[in-house]
Amino acid sequence: MKLTFAGTGSAFCTAADNFQSNMILETTNTDTGKLARMLIDCGTDARHALHHLGLWPKDFDAIYVSHLHSDHIGGLEWIALSNYFIFNQHRVDLYVVDELIDPLWEHSLRGGLEVSDRGDRKLDTYFNVKPLSATGTFDWHDAHITILPVDHIVAEEGKMLSYALFGQTPSNRFFITTDAIFDPDAHMGYYRKADIIFQDCELGPRRSGVHAHYDELKTLPDDIKAKMWLYHYPAYAKPDAVADGFCGFILPGQSFDLA
Ligand SMILES: [Zn+2]
Ligand SMILES: [Zn+2]
Repeated sequence: MKLTFAGTGSAFCTAADNFQSNMILETTNTDTGKLARMLIDCGTDARHALHHLGLWPKDFDAIYVSHLHSDHIGGLEWIALSNYFIFNQHRVDLYVVDELIDPLWEHSLRGGLEVSDRGDRKLDTYFNVKPLSATGTFDWHDAHITILPVDHIVAEEGKMLSYALFGQTPSNRFFITTDAIFDPDAHMGYYRKADIIFQDCELGPRRSGVHAHYDELKTLPDDIKAKMWLYHYPAYAKPDAVADGFCGFILPGQSFDLA
């Protein structure tokens, strides 16, 4: 199993050589023996990020949605319409937690997708919707994946969760935090269990309060930092993460073997 970062940038990253933090998980389809490919989040610039890697919407079997910010779902209309009209109605399994399905359609996608060739289109016109329990697990070929609700925005008026992934392959345990605040109490159990951690990390003088900041992550125990890779960073100059005990900042296009 291989994980490739189509981009490693934040929502607002405008670096010419980077894209939003969407990932591609590849493994062998346990039924057909062919390559299976899952896109983990599909942001507004996925069109360019995937083209950069030579991939098209038809090249994916599955998409996972972590939360509804546009750097994670803004490319779904493009995927839906491309597959429906250009790629012979190629259907992708859309893995998304129950709580997000209605808002994903009603608040994000319906405006652009309800009327296409007919006026009664729904989310399942375009995708094989695979509802997931927000605290459940699912199996995708040789990966057993646990969904972890993590705090992303905590405001007096409300809270926005993101749905992180803890994956187990026959020989590897990986933790993808997705967008999350610095919350070591909530995450430490998974930090400890994981062989490799892919960690949301913001940089720079402004702390948004909705992502873990590099200076906060530096306070983690050395043994955790030693298996932690950093992504979802803005286009600031990067500190020397290796000198600070991390594995480093992930570069756009970088792949990890999770077999
Ligand atoms: Zn994001
Ligand atoms: Zn977000």
